[in-house]
Amino acid sequence: MIPYSRQNIDDEDIKAVLKVLKSDFLTQGPVVKKFENKIIESLKCKHAIAVNSATSALHIACLALNVKKNDIVWTTPNSFVASANCALYCDANIDFVDIENKTWNMSIIELEKKLKIAKKNKKLPKVVIYVHLAGNPIDQKKIYNLSKLYNFKIIEDASHAFGAKYKKSYIGNCRWSDITVFSFHPVKIITTAEGGVATTNNKNYAEKMKLFASHGITKDKKNFLNKKPNPWHYEQHYLGYNYRMSEIHAALGLSQLKKFKNFVKKRNNLANLYKKNLNSLKITFQEIDKYNLSSYHLFIISFSYEDINLKVFKELKKNKFASNIHYQPIHLQPYFKKLGFKKGDFPIAEDFSKLCLSIPLSTSLNETDIIKISEIIKKIIK
Ligand SMILES: *Cc1c(COP(=O)(O)O)cnc(C)c1O
Repeated sequence: MIPYSRQNIDDEDIKAVLKVLKSDFLTQGPVVKKFENKIIESLKCKHAIAVNSATSALHIACLALNVKKNDIVWTTPNSFVASANCALYCDANIDFVDIENKTWNMSIIELEKKLKIAKKNKKLPKVVIYVHLAGNPIDQKKIYNLSKLYNFKIIEDASHAFGAKYKKSYIGNCRWSDITVFSFHPVKIITTAEGGVATTNNKNYAEKMKLFASHGITKDKKNFLNKKPNPWHYEQHYLGYNYRMSEIHAALGLSQLKKFKNFVKKRNNLANLYKKNLNSLKITFQEIDKYNLSSYHLFIISFSYEDINLKVFKELKKNKFASNIHYQPIHLQPYFKKLGFKKGDFPIAEDFSKLCLSIPLSTSLNETDIIKISEIIKKIIK
């Protein structure tokens, strides 16, 4: 079975991991630091905190922004549940902003409408978490302007968007946000097996995230309350977690990082081939602004009527190609229904989930695969 996305590991990656296994440090050594520095250099941000997953990165990002009980966080319903769960970990209230019809990202028009109403009701969000769906950058500057007007912080869930560019600059430079989070799960652009990173230009957020990722413990003398510490002294200042990335994972990440530009280029080439092959069909592709670069974590198509995605899903499966839905709306998950959300709350995202399908796209596919998959789809929808 060929999956909808998968990792690309070569001998260089394997060598890098083996080297760490023979070294003195398996955790909290020099390779994690190196990996973080390389991310800072690649994306042009000031700080990077590598952790054991994007889910952990989202959690420490919320903690650094002081999200707590009675605070409100908004995100998109068209994402993985982790984009919303991070707010719930902090005991905050979660709500959603419906998506837009062409980019399938959070609708900025809906966001503005909802902000106006929220201001009247004194229920403005403390943080808005948006997602660059499939690696397609949202219009960040517009949301940044709204954040100044309505006084909220911004977390980018850029799990899909490593190597994507917004107006010629890499996502993760945090020009238009407070914190950006990436995932290094094997289906994403580059991998550390499990892993993630949070980037920021704010020193205070960076220090807090570092602490929250490691038990809330500081070993930095200048932060100690005890002014005459023994040499073994450390202090816990927050209720933190163990979200640290290991040296083994960082070594894989550091090696993968050398290849991210090529990965993104190959994904773009294959995506363009899909577009060429499926162009004549009644299918919609994701709209990407010509000044932006998508990292094409996913190739999502949207059909013109319901349930055809199931038919195509089954036919692809028969031919050993796996496809998937991105996403079943978060608010319709049983857990979120128990919080009070219901069918009809975010109709565009709900309709989209009935029409969309992510067809295979990864750097291990070749042009022949893309043509084969396109032919299967063509036969069904003509
Ligand atoms: C994959 C993903 C996550 C979670 O990433 P992990 O590294 O598996 O924790 C969060 N948000 C989005 C949008 C994702 O696609």
